[in-house]
Amino acid sequence: MAITRFAPSPTGYLHIGGLRTALYSYLWAKKTGGEFKLRIEDTDMARNSEDAVKAILEAFEWVGMPSDCVIEYQSKRTGIYKTFIDKLLGNGNAYKCYMSKEELQTLRDKQEANKETPRYDGTWRPETGKTLPDIPENIEPVIRIKAPSKGVIEFTDGVKGVMKFDANQVDDFVIARGNGMPTYNFVVAIDDHLMGITDVIRGDDHLSNTPKQIVVYKALELEIPKFFHIPMINNPQGKKLSKRDGAMDVMEYKRLGYLPEALLNFLVRLGWSNGDQEIFSINEMLELFNPSNINKSASSYNSEKLNWLNSHYIKTSSNERLNQELQFFGLNLDGNNKKDVILTLCKDRANTINELKNTIDGILNTPKKYEENGVKKFIKENTSNTLENYLELLQNNNYDAPEEIESFTKPFVNENGLKFPELFQPIRISLTGGTEAPSVYDIIAILGKDETIKRIKRAIACDFHSDKLQEKYPDLFL
Ligand code: GLU
Repeated sequence: MAITRFAPSPTGYLHIGGLRTALYSYLWAKKTGGEFKLRIEDTDMARNSEDAVKAILEAFEWVGMPSDCVIEYQSKRTGIYKTFIDKLLGNGNAYKCYMSKEELQTLRDKQEANKETPRYDGTWRPETGKTLPDIPENIEPVIRIKAPSKGVIEFTDGVKGVMKFDANQVDDFVIARGNGMPTYNFVVAIDDHLMGITDVIRGDDHLSNTPKQIVVYKALELEIPKFFHIPMINNPQGKKLSKRDGAMDVMEYKRLGYLPEALLNFLVRLGWSNGDQEIFSINEMLELFNPSNINKSASSYNSEKLNWLNSHYIKTSSNERLNQELQFFGLNLDGNNKKDVILTLCKDRANTINELKNTIDGILNTPKKYEENGVKKFIKENTSNTLENYLELLQNNNYDAPEEIESFTKPFVNENGLKFPELFQPIRISLTGGTEAPSVYDIIAILGKDETIKRIKRAIACDFHSDKLQEKYPDLFL
């Protein structure tokens, strides 16, 4: 049973890399019958904001990954951290250091000049038989932890394998500042312990923090959790993912018309695989996910894959669900008696809910302009003539279903020696303004006879000129 956590610092929105880490933690906890916990790491008062916390929680709600515990806020746990600091001072594993900022800077400059890694030199570290300097006045001491001065700090990472850090890479780092505020690596270890975390899954940008956190666990004789450090998500060129590549706020994906299950499916595959399977429902993820199979190398963001997955989930969503999603974009088909026909027709061609909305709008709304390129390509001298003849056919036939329309349209095309696009594209342009709409038979069926005839007549009357449309039918533009 794994107890996992996601511990964002609320310095901005939730980024998709963060959501992927959270997803892996969530899946692993749920798969093993454990718990997934959220902790807000908001100790850096200058950089944190309440809005960011709200944005992070909103994103979790959207994707449906709630915390199994009351959300912990580090800013509210200072008292708890203090008891652990006192414990360490009491058992001799931490000590007060009175080195002034200036002295520390001088030490650093010297080490840098000697091409050494800057590290605390142990001036105030108590050792048997060592006399410490006199305590200076007017200096609030920081608290430093006693880190091992030799040997190796070792742990087995579930993704990267055995990791070894030379003890001299970790100095006696500060665990509480002069003002008493505890520091980052200290509180992370304390919280993970108190929250009962068994498996820490996080980005490998935190790998270098792990030896420090292990020093804290050991100094307090606490059990060390398992670690899984996940490689970063890169852009297709192998560089750090930028905003332009898709490193956006998770909620921006909602605004762009992505479904949460598509985003989660996309993210689970960015860094983890199960054979060559691409589509994973949440249940399948829960069944198959194991952090031990997380890829060792960085993954690469692929927006086409995301669109492909999103179109899959749109296609397979119920019309009711899609109608709900469309309401976020200001379209509600409740009350439209062709709701199901429209959604069934349009959902097959949309990569995003935005695109779905645009396709539906294109059918439901009278066109206010005709797409220029389409007009250039498909409207020829005899087009109006052909359309007039086709209008007659529409008038004289009774029809309801697309198949009925097909049954008199096909012979018309053949008898007139037309190619299908020569009739269909002008009709599409007349009915929707563009050439990208779904099947003509379906649109004609949805619009009904009167509206279809009206739109085609208008297009003929304007000779497919958008300007003339405005001149002749000013009412459309009110
Ligand atoms: N607060 C850290 C971050 O937002 C995560 C710390 C951790 O997972 O240990 O990057």
